[in-house]
Amino acid sequence: MSSPLSKNIARLIRETGPMPISHFMAMALGHPKHGYYMTRDPLGAAGDFTTAPEISQMFGELIGLWIAETWIAQGSPSKIVLAELGPGRGTLMADALRALRAVPGLLPALEIHFVETSPVLAAIQKQNVPNATWHDRFDTLPEGPLYLIANEFFDALPIRQFVRTKQGWCERYVMLTEDSTEESPSFEPAIVPVPQASNDILAAGQRNAPIGSLAEVSPASAAFAEDIASRIAKHGGAALIIDYGHPKSAAGETLQALRKHEFVSVFETPGEADLTAHVDFEALAVAAKAGGAEVYGPIEQGTFLRALGIGERAERLKAKATPEQARDIDSAEHRLTSREEMGSLFKVLALTPKDAPAPAGFEV
Ligand code: SAH
Repeated sequence: MSSPLSKNIARLIRETGPMPISHFMAMALGHPKHGYYMTRDPLGAAGDFTTAPEISQMFGELIGLWIAETWIAQGSPSKIVLAELGPGRGTLMADALRALRAVPGLLPALEIHFVETSPVLAAIQKQNVPNATWHDRFDTLPEGPLYLIANEFFDALPIRQFVRTKQGWCERYVMLTEDSTEESPSFEPAIVPVPQASNDILAAGQRNAPIGSLAEVSPASAAFAEDIASRIAKHGGAALIIDYGHPKSAAGETLQALRKHEFVSVFETPGEADLTAHVDFEALAVAAKAGGAEVYGPIEQGTFLRALGIGERAERLKAKATPEQARDIDSAEHRLTSREEMGSLFKVLALTPKDAPAPAGFEV
């Protein structure tokens, strides 16, 4: 089994040697021609995975109200940048905008900006949120108070993997298997037995893991978190980062590939399966603090959505619903909040300027 992108990756490995997992992941997801996100809409029942905004309109609506509350708490600045990283189909933003339309003065104050690399998804976003401005990088967002949302964005950013050997922590690379051919390339992970001089790339909670342990680090994620934080520290605003992952940096392998809602091999069909890794929220928090922001959480998604009033919102929607719609609303609420579903695995981290009030859902 291989994929069109396998040949490009194999050629690169033959020419330049084994590649870090992060490079493989970045190519598999973002290669301009064959990258996973570049060629398809992966969301929904017919795709490879489903996300919270695609499950229910309540998710985006509650986030819209969270933005409104945070905006009011910071003195309702008259011009703000409302940005989303990796907006998928634009569903979350469309739902959020519908909810915040009721807030006096907010809609005229905001400019919508999307950071998106996929032309396929950007085209769908344009249908759902026609008046946005698109960017393929974060740094071209205009200056000003920044209200930023990232749902299931950080799990798609490349990670590096390290394995602790007797000699020290060594990086895991992608190599060609012995029976790999030009026509039908195949890959396997292997440890390059050169201990990293830069062991401090690992978090304290990872460094002392026993020999044989694997640890993941996402320098790209830390860079995003620090950049977002320093904008917010400088210009005001807030960020809401939602993803599945763990609250503390720890050793353990979480890189996974998903195709048609099933787990598949990470290395078999690069470009045709979604590759993600659990988000290390402690690493994001450390980077955001370095950027100068106040950090709240991470708290569990279920706790966050309940604090924002998902229960009341569901009741209100059900009052106008058919019995079948009412069942769908109940089941969506359950999927988003219950511990057996997304409620506990998914976490929420919020960033604000240092002197700002605690955002909704994070008050103690
Ligand atoms: N937030 C959406 C979609 C999540 S899927 C939702 O919750 O439904 C991940 C999204 O991030 C996709 O829109 C994908 O195209 C985008 N993406 C992945 N890597 C990216 C990168 N490096 N820069 C910008 N967008 C990226």
